[in-house]
Order: sequence, then structure tokens, then C-alpha cells
Amino acid sequence: MFNLVKGTHDIILEDADKYSFVEQTLIQVAEFFGYQEFRTPIIESSDLFQRSVGDSSDIVRKEMYTFLDKGNRSISLRPELTAGIVRSIVNNKLLALGDTPVKAYYVGPCFRYERPQAGRYRQFNQFGIECVGVSSPYRDVEVISLGYFGLKMLGFKNLKLKINTLGDNESRANYKEVLRNYFKDHLDELCSDCHDRYSLNVMRILDCKNPNDQAIIKNAPKISDYLSEKSKKYFDDVLESLTNLGIEYEIDESLVRGLDYYSDVVFEFHYTSSKGLNYGALAAGGHYNKLVEEIGGPRDVEGVGFAAGIERLVSVMNDDSLFADLSFSLDCYVMPLDLQFEKNAIEVATRLRLNGFKTDLSLENKSIKAMLKKALRKNAHFALIIGQDEINSNSIIVKNLKKEEQVSIKLDDLIEYLDNQIDENEHSHHHSEE
Ligand code: ATP
Ligand code: MG
Repeated sequence: MFNLVKGTHDIILEDADKYSFVEQTLIQVAEFFGYQEFRTPIIESSDLFQRSVGDSSDIVRKEMYTFLDKGNRSISLRPELTAGIVRSIVNNKLLALGDTPVKAYYVGPCFRYERPQAGRYRQFNQFGIECVGVSSPYRDVEVISLGYFGLKMLGFKNLKLKINTLGDNESRANYKEVLRNYFKDHLDELCSDCHDRYSLNVMRILDCKNPNDQAIIKNAPKISDYLSEKSKKYFDDVLESLTNLGIEYEIDESLVRGLDYYSDVVFEFHYTSSKGLNYGALAAGGHYNKLVEEIGGPRDVEGVGFAAGIERLVSVMNDDSLFADLSFSLDCYVMPLDLQFEKNAIEVATRLRLNGFKTDLSLENKSIKAMLKKALRKNAHFALIIGQDEINSNSIIVKNLKKEEQVSIKLDDLIEYLDNQIDENEHSHHHSEE
């Protein structure tokens, strides 16, 4: 027996259905907003993340899976996807085509060497979007509204949108100076991580979850007092538009995000489940103005995006029973009453599948009782029974498991019969011929 690697988990059976449901729902919303899928490699050169996510970030400092490949190249498993997406936009010269913004969505695994706990894994999945080549604050609004709409579509109510601005480069430089002065006098009282943050990126201290540090952070100077006119107007435009769209938010001046590439608007979606559990942010993102250039693209191309953690979404949705209607089901389960009818069973099952009925069959020589049990467990609508009488008369018994009725149907009439029986809405995957 082999154990799972620490911090990883299997996503199987009904659980996998839930993951697909969440991902497909978000994908549909993204496509609805004019986004197209990007699939980039799971491995990238380590430099990419050092440059983009940033050397001072927790991710690059402590959480990356980095190794030398056999050609002595430093490779990392992607800890997030924004860097890879932007790299791909730059490499493929999508910005040069002038067809901006480039609107990309993605779904896939990320890897971070973190301490595993509720909602925190070492391999986890993200869905996200990037809108690159933007110049209007209303792109930020569009991206936030996509996140909001996506979470609504999943059934979330009482979402909490936290939002903040990190200001433009000029505002941030001023503010950092002021912050360094403030924290200088409190360094003894701050945790050791915050000592590192003090020299690497002082704004990160604001994000510290340590309760002792929180007390000191509470009295720190606020970014809102150091914003340039331009940044202030930008933020106000975004907030005003959110209000007009009916998207409630809460300004959180300690929200600074863990990645180095953000500027101006940053945001997170939070939710507390009915069990009172808070798994941290369900989705988080923001605006970036230096990332494209850092990765070798043209100067002054800005972008905005967010990423949602699928594991966290599924956990919260489980807690609040938001998957209630999502149970695996079959249209048909085909049951040969004897080993010798297995070849008839595979023929019928294949014909049903080709006609769009989601079908499984028994080829294990089980008793009728055991097969019926399995059909019920798989939530089949119909059990189709093949015995000697049926072979003799070219027919099949159709047992409606929802109504507990059964009839004998000529094989030639089977498809038409099932078509009439199955209500269009219940029909798992049937594509009607009209
Ligand atoms: P946190 O503050 O919880 O560590 P983060 O700021 O590191 O989150 P991001 O880099 O913004 O997270 O990633 C976007 C989303 O991905 C998060 O909001 C969360 O839902 C999810 N996520 C991040 N790290 C993990 C993890 N280790 N396991 C599961 N989901 C994660
Ligand atoms: Mg983190």
C-alpha cells in the first residue's frame, strides 16, 4: 500500500462530479463574459515565478516545488497560473495583434508547499481569469462582477467582497516609506515573519494573521491617506460602479494580497458557511501594471484577474448542501439473467449509448437481486432485463425504477419507447434527433 503524498487528495466518484460541476459552472460564466480557455504547462522555469510572483512573496520564499531537471534547468511546479498565462500571452505576441484586451480563463492544478489544513492543500485546483491589455477601471469592475456572478451561479448567498487599493507606483512608494517609519518603532513586538516582511515588502505586514501583530497593525497609517489623485479617482470609479451594479463590498485596508505584482485595486471573496466555518478567501485577485513588462512584454500593459480555489468552493458548498440536486444517475442499466445473454446485453447497451442514453450494464453473472440493487445504487431510471423469454420473442423487459412498473417491449421499439418515457428534463445526456 502507498499513502498519498502529504497535502494531496484524490478527487474521485461523486466528489469528482462536484469538482466538474463547480468548474463547468465557472467556465460557462467566463465564456458568457467573452473569455477563452488557455492551457499552459504545469512546469515553468523557476525564474518566471521569481520575477512575477516575486522574490519577497511567501510563495517564492517558502512554498515552491522547485527542482533541477536532468539538463540542470531550474524548474518549478506552478504555484499559481497568472504568471504562465501572461507569459503565454507575451510569447504568442497576442498583445501585438492590437486585439486587446486578451481575455483568458483557466482551470488546473497548482502546487504550494504549505502546512496542510482545512481548505489548504499542497496540490489544489484553481479556476481563474486574466484580462490583459486594459485601460479602464470598468475592466476591474467587469472582472469583479464575473467573480460575483460565478459564485452566485454556484448558489452562494451572503458573499462578502472585500476590496482595497494598493495605489499606483508613486502612491505605494510614499506609503511604504511611512509604513517603514511606523513599524521601525515596533519591530521588537512583531513576529519573525514580519521582520522579514519589513525588509522585503513592508506592506505585507498588514496581511499578518498573528493576533499580537494585529494589534500593532490596527494603528498603522492607512493607504487611503497616501493615494495620488489618479489612484484615488480610479478606486472611487470602481466603487461607484460596483454600487450601481448592486454588488456590495467592504473596504478592507489591511487587504494587500500575497503576490508582488498587484497595484491599485485588489479584492477577495469571502463566505462563512452555515456551520460558521471560514476557509479563508474563496477567490482573490486584483489589478497589475508591471507584470507584463516583468515577463518580457511591452511596457505599460496592464491587466486584471482573479483566481478561485476549487477545493475551498467544494468544501463550503458541501457544508451548506449546495450540491443537493447533484447525484450521479443513469438512464438505463442492462441486466442479463444468465451468462449466455451477456452478448445480447452488450449489444443492447451499445445501441442505447449510441442513441444518447447514459447506460451501464452487468457482465458479472450476478443474481437479479444483486443487479437490481446495483441499478438502484447507480440511480438508474430503467432496468432492462434480458432472459430466455425475451431472447425467444425479440423483446426486453423495461422496469421503470422510479414508478416500479414493468413492461415487455419489442427490441425494435425500445428506443422510441424510452424516448417517450423519459421527460426531456430528466434525460441525462440525450440529444434529441429533431
Ligand atoms: P491564503 O491567504 O488563504 O493563503 P493566497 O492569498 O495564498 O490565500 P491566492 O494566491 O490568491 O491565495 O490564490 C487564490 C485562491 O486559491 C485562494 O483564494 C484560495 O481559494 C485558493 N488557494 C490558495 N492556496 C491554496 C491551498 N494551499 N490550498 C487550497 N486552495 C488554495
Ligand atoms: Mg497563501
